[in-house]
Amino acid sequence: MQPFQLTIEAAANLLARRELSAEELTRSVLERVDAVEPRVEAYLTVDAPGALAQAREADRRLAAGDAGPLTGIPLSLKDVLCTRGLRTTCGSRILENFVPPYDATVVERLRRAGAVLVGKTNMDEFAMGSSTENSAFKPTRNPWDTRRIPGGSSGGAAAAVAADMCLGALGSDTGGSIRQPASHCGVVGLKPTYGRVSRFGLVAFASSLDQIGPLGKSVADCARILAAIAGHDPRDATSVPETVPDYQAALTGDLHGLRIGIPDFAAIGGLDPAVARSVAAAIGTLESLGARQVPVSLPHTAYAVATYYIIAPSEACSNLARYDGVRFGARAGGQTDLLEMYRATRSKGFGEEVQRRILLGTYALSAGYYDAYYRKASQVRTLIVEDFKRAFAACDVLVSPVAPTPAFPIGAKADDPLTMYLSDIFTIPANLAGIPGLAVPCGFADDGLPVGLQIQARHFNEETLLRVGHAFEQATDFHQHKPPL
Ligand code: GLN
Repeated sequence: MQPFQLTIEAAANLLARRELSAEELTRSVLERVDAVEPRVEAYLTVDAPGALAQAREADRRLAAGDAGPLTGIPLSLKDVLCTRGLRTTCGSRILENFVPPYDATVVERLRRAGAVLVGKTNMDEFAMGSSTENSAFKPTRNPWDTRRIPGGSSGGAAAAVAADMCLGALGSDTGGSIRQPASHCGVVGLKPTYGRVSRFGLVAFASSLDQIGPLGKSVADCARILAAIAGHDPRDATSVPETVPDYQAALTGDLHGLRIGIPDFAAIGGLDPAVARSVAAAIGTLESLGARQVPVSLPHTAYAVATYYIIAPSEACSNLARYDGVRFGARAGGQTDLLEMYRATRSKGFGEEVQRRILLGTYALSAGYYDAYYRKASQVRTLIVEDFKRAFAACDVLVSPVAPTPAFPIGAKADDPLTMYLSDIFTIPANLAGIPGLAVPCGFADDGLPVGLQIQARHFNEETLLRVGHAFEQATDFHQHKPPL
């Protein structure tokens, strides 16, 4: 086995025993990037000199006996996370040359933990999308079939993990952007509870929905990354001052007495038979491990996509007002008039999907329409929260597909935003309610494409998700399959 193929857990053991150095591991990962990146295009920026310097520093810490669980581990960062001195584009022309003067809190925490930051991964512009086709720079390809999308918006992150171009990654999830690409690329992805991880330094899309989380080759690896980034941050007023539990201790493998609620996902139109089959088999596996099914109903899920596509664009149009060509980002030249300069800068700097969202949000918030759209959506959001509360009174976790179909061909939905939006049906409710959700590989469709299982739990119950996901992994080997690159 090559070092780049290791899980974080295995690599950390070798590093701790000094059987592998952080520099060797990092070189191996960088060579892997050189070998497969031309076919996958997962990265927007690879920082080889920075990564090697961090690896050498990690080796010093390891030698001094001052290492933590991520010291010397090569990770990637979605390009929505601010990195001091390292270009942060958010997948957009408008931030093409933006070099942040500070690190996001999660980046600061990973650096402190001694992680090696390989580079910044590709994404849909401003995290708006489900396929990474909305990146202003290039589409990323699914390592399992490079003619297909890797999912999105953290498509670069998921593809980089699946193709062994990093040992783990940070992504962000506003309506599914960690879980859905993880599912399409056959890796693990966790959206933590809203407030569990600081959003300071995350370029904002929809502030009441955005959350940062890990992608990895195993549940245990995601637990390790989460432990490093979770916890209160005075710089994010929505980060919660709850103590962070010991996530490794949650990985007991024991599911006896666990109550799993199965929403009626089969009733959702457009569910691929292979996805339905894999998820049904996964539920059987969980039962064989001691879990039992209980009936639940989430009657307002049917309105989740419509609700999200009012709330998320409304928040986005407000958040994106700051890109005016004045304070930072690109400015279109040649105008003499201020309004013309704004118009030209934003028309040139934002891609089609971002402009569509800004228009939708501006409309939904405008005088005379606010009550009919934004207020109504906020009310429905409360009903969705209530649905989850009722469901979690009867069960410990909810189990469903992550996405209704496996990864689709590049270009297949690019001209049909509505179909693209509808594919978020299983992931969006967790963001609206703020609950955590985990995606774990649970099967393969006939054409060999990975299928993911979603597990959701109560607020701040990441431990339960990790316990269930880990037990499922122990009983299956879907997460160990590698794409034929
Ligand atoms: N696909 C959804 C959207 O386009 C979710 C994206 C995300 O989670 N960032 O908004």
